[in-house]
Amino acid sequence: MSAKTLFLPERLHDYLLECTLRETPVQRALRAATRKVPRAGMQIAPEQGSLLQFLVRLSGARRCLEIGTYTGYSALAVALVLPPQGRIVCCDVSEPWTAIAQRYWKLAKVDRKIELRLAPALETLDALLAESGAGRFDFAFVDADKKNYQSYFERCLRLVRRGGLIAVDNTLWYGRVVDRRAKDADTRAIRAFNRRLARDRRIAMAMVPIGDGLSLAMKR
Ligand code: CA
Repeated sequence: MSAKTLFLPERLHDYLLECTLRETPVQRALRAATRKVPRAGMQIAPEQGSLLQFLVRLSGARRCLEIGTYTGYSALAVALVLPPQGRIVCCDVSEPWTAIAQRYWKLAKVDRKIELRLAPALETLDALLAESGAGRFDFAFVDADKKNYQSYFERCLRLVRRGGLIAVDNTLWYGRVVDRRAKDADTRAIRAFNRRLARDRRIAMAMVPIGDGLSLAMKR
């Protein structure tokens, strides 16, 4: 489970990064530091960071949401391209992993744009709905425990405005979605989520085979 686009040969992946990656030194340092952390494969691929930044810029997002922060690379990527008044609320339950994140957010001087909420994400999302109501966010990135994907998505769909974007990671699930022998709970959850998303008329959607599969949904 490497942090690269899954089905791309190594040489082409290197070439893609050579031609596109505009990481800051702090982003590079965070990627290097995360390689030594358990479950380093949970970090998004750097080319996904570029795509998230591109989408945030394209949509003019100011209020962002992240479900599943880990060591903070995706939130850092997003925060770096947010305007000065832009904010991202990050949901995670791991103190040690998000401590690393906070160290690098500070180094990159984007920490004041990021609000970390250490609690089960469903609780945080419900609290956000109660605090500020529906339709107040422009962009959401979902990359957390797979069994709750549908619940996270439903909350995010309420929280983003019409025209707002929700990006969901790992929707190709290392190819296990098409492996008939794979019957574990996570694989089943991703398959069910993908099937529902494909039929969901509340959104326009596309699935991009970058990283481990990134589904993009725009609220209609
Ligand atoms: Ca992921």
